[in-house]
Amino acid sequence: MNSAGIYIHIPFCQYICNYCDYFTTEKKAGNIPHFVIMLLREIELTAGNFDHHDWRIDSIYLGGGSPALLLPKDLEIILNKLRGHFPFSQFPEITLEINPGENSFADLKLFKEMGINRLSIGFQSLNPKFLNILTRTHNPDDCIALYENAREAGIENISIDMLYNIPGQSVTQWLNDLKTVVEMQPDHIAMYSLTAEKGTPFYTDIQNGDLSLPDAAIEGKMYKQGSQYLRDCRFTQYEVSHFAKPGKECRHNLHYWKRDPNLAFGPSAHGFDGEKRYWNVASLEKYGEILSQNNLPIQNTEILSAENIVNEIVMNGLRTNLGVPTSCFDNIDDISIQKWESYLEIENGSLLLKPEYFHLADEITADLMVG
Ligand code: SF4
Repeated sequence: MNSAGIYIHIPFCQYICNYCDYFTTEKKAGNIPHFVIMLLREIELTAGNFDHHDWRIDSIYLGGGSPALLLPKDLEIILNKLRGHFPFSQFPEITLEINPGENSFADLKLFKEMGINRLSIGFQSLNPKFLNILTRTHNPDDCIALYENAREAGIENISIDMLYNIPGQSVTQWLNDLKTVVEMQPDHIAMYSLTAEKGTPFYTDIQNGDLSLPDAAIEGKMYKQGSQYLRDCRFTQYEVSHFAKPGKECRHNLHYWKRDPNLAFGPSAHGFDGEKRYWNVASLEKYGEILSQNNLPIQNTEILSAENIVNEIVMNGLRTNLGVPTSCFDNIDDISIQKWESYLEIENGSLLLKPEYFHLADEITADLMVG
């Protein structure tokens, strides 16, 4: 039996943040109902061709975008459609991404009732000045209110997303934010370095000199001290940017890193059927047009070469505490392993990067790549 995940990309946001390079679009009255109809059609068409009966879906991730902007009844229809068409495990993890200030307590109770059992909340910062730089529309009080309401509504598994490396942010300010988050006792924390992605207004501001990112040494300190702090607070660092209380690792993320199958729905969503990767068109109009002709909105597919598969296993293994299975060792250049020997360890037959060196994961992976 293969465990598998489902990702649904819901691209609507109240407002597009200046640094965001995901496929998103501003929520407008009228475009959501049509999107939901098309998404349900995509699920039905995919189910019609589905022949992986040895799969058990044990995670659904509703991402975006801001998927919690959909009406709760629409989210419930989508979840029920999935339940009716695919083989699920008994207790799937169902995650909803949600932003502070956008949902009522009544919404949260409905999310819980429809089976959503994990929230990924985008705090990003608890400092009003930095939220303003990020053009986020919420304030720190909205973060606290959403977290408390979610707990009161009975959501037992909560992850908080935080950003560091924000223009003007000091290491102390970053660590203070993390400390406040830890005191709230979430089950999971993801911390990401803010980057200026080409094509975003934030990138233009950086290019024009209107804003500047902290220098690389400060960014490095933020990462190292932040990670160490979370590990000291008994969070397991199970990936470069992800920290979990025991047993609260995100099952859906683990599917990606273990290269498990993952069905994907919605514009720009990326899936993997165990052999082939595929991705949908990144356009709401094209997505709707293609589906209205009863075709799947897949833009392209890729079958990885044997060499690329090994490279993916090395990359995912070294970014996580899963490590690289010994079965791959024949394919890895021994000299490269020797070069990084003191940063690596072998445990239960897998090659692992010691957590204190996770910040070097990209560099070491590049050295161990084959081909
Ligand atoms: S809320 Fe999230 S997905 Fe939406 S624009 Fe902002 S960063 Fe992007």
